[in-house]
Amino acid sequence: STAAPGVESKKVAGINAAADPPSAYTKDTAILHRTPFQPPTAVSAEGLYFTLADGTRIIDAVGGAAVTCIGNGNPVVKQAIKDQVEKLSPVPNMGRSNEPAEELAKLLLEYAPGAFEQVAFVAGGSEAMEAVIKLARQYFWETKQPQRTKFISRQLSYHGNTLGALSLSGHPGRRKVFEGILNHDSFHHVSPAYAARFKTPGETDEEYVARLAKELEDKFQELGPDTVIGFVAETVVGATTGCVAAPKGYFPAMKAVCEKHGALFILDEVMSGMGRMGTTMHAWQTYGDNVAPDIQAIAKGLGGGYVSIGAVLMSPRVAKGIREGSGYFFHGHTYQAHPTTAAGSLAVQKVIRENDLLKKAAEAGEYLSSQLRATLRSPSSIVAPYIFDIRGGGAFWGIEFDLGEKQTPKPFGALVQAKTMQKGLIVIAMAGSLDGGKGDYVILAPPYNVTKEEMDEIVKRLNESLEELVREYLV
Ligand code: PMP
Repeated sequence: STAAPGVESKKVAGINAAADPPSAYTKDTAILHRTPFQPPTAVSAEGLYFTLADGTRIIDAVGGAAVTCIGNGNPVVKQAIKDQVEKLSPVPNMGRSNEPAEELAKLLLEYAPGAFEQVAFVAGGSEAMEAVIKLARQYFWETKQPQRTKFISRQLSYHGNTLGALSLSGHPGRRKVFEGILNHDSFHHVSPAYAARFKTPGETDEEYVARLAKELEDKFQELGPDTVIGFVAETVVGATTGCVAAPKGYFPAMKAVCEKHGALFILDEVMSGMGRMGTTMHAWQTYGDNVAPDIQAIAKGLGGGYVSIGAVLMSPRVAKGIREGSGYFFHGHTYQAHPTTAAGSLAVQKVIRENDLLKKAAEAGEYLSSQLRATLRSPSSIVAPYIFDIRGGGAFWGIEFDLGEKQTPKPFGALVQAKTMQKGLIVIAMAGSLDGGKGDYVILAPPYNVTKEEMDEIVKRLNESLEELVREYLV
């Protein structure tokens, strides 16, 4: 192939810079996609359905990636966005605020009275986690502890795709390509809280939690307790191991270790927050313990897929540290606190409140989990032997597979993804996160107002897909 005029193809060891693009690359589009195939083009969406250019209607059972919380095409949200565009658009936002962003920030503080005092807006989940990292560092800089430069997070975590967030993340597959440019000095990892796989036989929940808390304490000691900025965890793990909640007592124990050493306790609720777990707005509130974090990231359900927004919530301690120090956050993005975005997000929140959607999400979760269990684990099901775990809450459910000694030509998760897609069902499937090629998961994250009929259809198509795969590869 010929290089563009004036551009010499550079020789890099092991890579043929002049080679044709790999076969997965497609010239059908100018976009370099994040999937190794050309994704289908959606032209319209309503509720949890969307329609492709060729007219095919697909059920999106995972709402983008746990983003869609009120369904697509909501008229209240569409109108709010239109109205805001008419009122204040376009917006060079630097150096001024706007009404919808101020109103949204106030509303977010009301969701957990006393827990948080100020809010910083960004444009998504990875950006929120970058902002969390910088805010936590700035807090200790302002409070005259500049020697605190280290974060402790967990293996098998996912905190985003930007370099800071990826350094924080503990998922080998997602880090692999970028390992060489990630920050290894400031980011350290401890074990996940993943009882289904890592609790040892005979160990009680209390013993498991005590073991994990001891590991965190040991990590503080290894790094030097006064060099640690904080401990960071997803409240419920989403995109790496499929809806894993922590055992009872885990977060209080981890928070206590942070408090003992004056470090910050930080939660990433980008995926699991904003009502996704049902009943409460924040996932940490579902644990029923006093585990309000010092800093929290939210995104996804905050904008419900309508607008690109994320936010960082800061506790009175952190807000005060910044206020009494420099007085502002050293973190500017052109599009933060954008009025159109804030207006869209406010409308999403209004729809959630006015339709009692947190309660609906909890009810949906009860129905969906009972249907999943009844179908995939029924004694007569050929799928049942391969279902390792069904777990989650609200509108957030994970199914973990285990093929035992059996193997499929491709990782099972990848086969599930392709098969469900053939059946017009979108789920997130993940493959091979654990040793020995295990760690295959599917996530379901329908909108909070998903109907019983829609859940029945999701379970039916998923079950049919799994039955076909079992027949093709496992019996
Ligand atoms: N943190 C968590 C826990 C996530 O699940 C995700 C996205 N799946 C992110 C951060 C990154 O968010 P975004 O994709 O909006 O950048």
